Amino acid sequence: MAEKLTWSKSSLAAQALGRTDPITRAVVPPIHVATTYLRDPDNGYSSGFIYGRPDNATVRDTEAVLAMLEEAEAGALLFSSGMAAATACFMSLDPGDHVIASSVMYWGLRNWLLTESVRWGLEVELVETDDLGKLAAALRPGRTRLVWIETPSNPLWTITDIAGAAELAHRAGARLAVDSTCASPYHTRPLALGADIVMHAATKVLNGHSDVVAGVLAATTDDAFWQRILKHRSGSGAILGPFEAYLLQRGLKTFFVRSAAQASGAARLADALSSHPNVARVLYPGLPQHPGHDVAARQMENGFGFMLSIQVRGGEAAAIATAAKVELWKRATSLGGVESLIEHRASIEGPSTPCPPDLLRLSTGIEDPADLFDDLDRALRAAHG
Ligand code: PLP
Repeated sequence: MAEKLTWSKSSLAAQALGRTDPITRAVVPPIHVATTYLRDPDNGYSSGFIYGRPDNATVRDTEAVLAMLEEAEAGALLFSSGMAAATACFMSLDPGDHVIASSVMYWGLRNWLLTESVRWGLEVELVETDDLGKLAAALRPGRTRLVWIETPSNPLWTITDIAGAAELAHRAGARLAVDSTCASPYHTRPLALGADIVMHAATKVLNGHSDVVAGVLAATTDDAFWQRILKHRSGSGAILGPFEAYLLQRGLKTFFVRSAAQASGAARLADALSSHPNVARVLYPGLPQHPGHDVAARQMENGFGFMLSIQVRGGEAAAIATAAKVELWKRATSLGGVESLIEHRASIEGPSTPCPPDLLRLSTGIEDPADLFDDLDRALRAAHG
């Protein structure tokens, strides 16, 4: 079966584009584990494969599914983690380049940008990109090479207007890259909205089972920058392993059903928690009172995602005590898996975090939302004595 565009993305993902094994006719293609490939007698490589560090057939198959999901004309590239994918973009810039990134974003990447990336001369500026006026003021035409936004962004679920940010970045001669991990291709199509590159920690909802660490970049244009990123992945050896690529491909087969259940569960929880006596505030872009709701309603589809946060009445101690008392929710970092996770984010992000101390981050899985609410309700009440 070729990639038939008349079928929906969910049909294509369910069958991993319908690729089968031509030799055995197995409906699941084999995992290609070889690190090296035979040369032809004329010294060529007619198979197109030479060595396992730059390329792998199982990785390519999974990349094809991801490129389809992101409508990425230039294709998708898999990396050994979300961080490897994200940092590849910055390491493909030149010393002296000015970079703008969202001030509220995944803390691991923010730390890396502020400490490691500056060592080889990138000038990094954190900006509240949910305010396009602030983004416009920070852009330096001809010097800013990359604008990096995350939307919805960890852990406040701040929303940046992707189309607006793309227009501003392009006018200044910069590229726009979007960390769309928490929107996922189920809710947002950053490339269709004007972004040049979309990144995901595929570790999260794309794989969905908390058993693979992976990252992906997908792009609209196969230009010199994209080629640099490809060269960087090959040179640094940051490609995803074939077993992980296979697991990710398997996870993607259920991506649409998982995402639908997770988004509707999160919306129900956000609603129910909004009137909870022990909850001071619910942060979820689907709620009309969320500051980014209008933009989110414009640029997100199929709901507003599986991530939300709550600020617990009684402050940090009450938040930590609540997390200590849940039973169905799992107390762990990460997000996007089928099992719901709860985390006191400020504890992990450290003193420089913009995350309030009373905040608990909730990653909604596929359990019965009524059970998830009851468990949290009981924990909140117990923490408040
Ligand atoms: N981007 C976001 C939004 C994340 O939540 C994470 C990890 O939590 C990353 C990037 C980094 O991904 P990884 O842990 O696969 O390196």
